[in-house]
Amino acid sequence: MSLSLDPTQLDRYSRHIIMDEVGPEGQQSLLDAAVLVVGAGGLGAPIIQYLAAAGVGTLGVADDDEVELSNLQRQIIHGNDDVGRPKVESAADFVADLNPDVTVRTHEVRVEPDNVAGLIEDYDFVVDATDNFRTRYLVNDACTLSGTPFSHGAIYKFEGQVTTFTTEGPCYRCLFPEAPPEGMVADCASTGVLGVLPGTVGCVQATETVKYLLDEGELLDGRMLFYDAMDMTFEEVEFRRNPDCPVCGDDPIETLSQVEYAEESCPVNAD
Ligand SMILES: [Zn+2]
Repeated sequence: MSLSLDPTQLDRYSRHIIMDEVGPEGQQSLLDAAVLVVGAGGLGAPIIQYLAAAGVGTLGVADDDEVELSNLQRQIIHGNDDVGRPKVESAADFVADLNPDVTVRTHEVRVEPDNVAGLIEDYDFVVDATDNFRTRYLVNDACTLSGTPFSHGAIYKFEGQVTTFTTEGPCYRCLFPEAPPEGMVADCASTGVLGVLPGTVGCVQATETVKYLLDEGELLDGRMLFYDAMDMTFEEVEFRRNPDCPVCGDDPIETLSQVEYAEESCPVNAD
């Protein structure tokens, strides 16, 4: 690693650099890192915002949606004038205004079995910020098979859950081997979500991402954090690798083509 922080960067990141846990080396690690955020909606908005502010040098944003007026109640990187624009373009403009150190790579695609491996391969860390089981399993399986660490976050009305998967720990399928059948989970657009909720969960995901890149602290690896906004409680459940897991168990699949990914009626990234 070569330190190349210029005077403007020493000023911009001074509150990072002054801390022993980050320092100029840690800040350089953030600037040298590439993180893919899958979903530029409710969870993706605070994640993109804080990772950009922190100086993560390359931010990939994957989303095939356009900004809608009903998104603005929680998707805080998009504004009134962005309604009708692709979310990846709106996100890129937001980041460009916040921090010119950050290069945004936009991926205006729906995550599919035939493109997910190519999407994640250039990134050090992936953040799953979708609210869609199909994409969630695709991200889990592709990241686990390729040894790419990733953050998982999910929200429902007033509740959220978040964890971090590294190459050493279990994966999402160890907890939930299969997606629930269609109709078992209420349609995302019809359930509603407290606007602040994805902010809380997304900020935990952004925190985990920065800690991973800095190689500092204890990650939520093998721990699922459950957040209840109504009771204002955080609870933690530990979980282990499942030897029967089809993706990281003792007899794992070799390619995504060995798995069925059911279509969902719920639009991708609609949270
Ligand atoms: Zn697993």
